[in-house]
Amino acid sequence: MILIPRSNVIYSFSSSHKPEAFAKPGDIVVFETIDALGGQIRSEDVSINEIDWGKVNPATGPLYVEDAEPGDTLVVDITDVEVEKESVIIVVPGYGVLHDKVTKPKVKILRLINGNLVFNSLAIDVRPMIGVIGVAPESGEAPTGTLGEHGGNMDVALITKGTRLYLPVFVRGALLAIGDLHVVQGDGEICVSAAEVSGKVKVRVNVIKGKRPKYPILETNDRFAILAYGKTLDEAAYRASEAAVEALMKAQNLSFEEAYMLASLVVDLRINQVVDPMKGIRAEIPKKYVSINDLLYR
Ligand code: CA
Repeated sequence: MILIPRSNVIYSFSSSHKPEAFAKPGDIVVFETIDALGGQIRSEDVSINEIDWGKVNPATGPLYVEDAEPGDTLVVDITDVEVEKESVIIVVPGYGVLHDKVTKPKVKILRLINGNLVFNSLAIDVRPMIGVIGVAPESGEAPTGTLGEHGGNMDVALITKGTRLYLPVFVRGALLAIGDLHVVQGDGEICVSAAEVSGKVKVRVNVIKGKRPKYPILETNDRFAILAYGKTLDEAAYRASEAAVEALMKAQNLSFEEAYMLASLVVDLRINQVVDPMKGIRAEIPKKYVSINDLLYR
């Protein structure tokens, strides 16, 4: 087993970063991660002004995966997501869906007790998930706080234990990095943060040669989801729908018009997050209608 300690963090996805570890297809790798606030908040008395914003959204890595070359797909099976007992959630004036209503910052420390996240007297069901996961983009640097074709700060509640992720490979070795775990998060991430937590992620990596998805694809036991993004929810919905219709045309050998109709019947558009400058929408397609090959391009 390969372990990347949490001392090896990056703040951008880029081909310029030196790999921290090397893996072969089929290898299992553990990433130790630091919470999205860089582990800087340990008490409810901390002032938001004391936070060093240069240390937020750390991602652990990158991992170089042998055989992964531009044009391929990196397959990441998430076999475990383990979170620490203490997490933090914040609200900040100007941020979140109700940005104009927040008059002062607030910090809340949340604890896991008997497997539930305790919020005042409520015991919340948890679903530990990965907020930031991605590979190096084709060129330049993509800050770990943003999202795009390479993945990044997608904040998709479904990226959890048992999920398989397909990421397009843009550079040799793919350069996978992971961070920003949440104990639990609802779709949308309404207040701008979730139960931000440090922890450990265990993955198995593999490579599909010669084809790749347009956007990251997520696979659960019964569906595929296309993880699209855009400056507005409308733009993200357009891109997610366009990719879903293309996959249905291919899978079912349909004209655009018929695939468009079928999408209206069987595809679910769902919100990933709405609180970052780039919004995320996923198009969920039941496996009955498409296979992974229909979602990959040569
Ligand atoms: Ca995030």
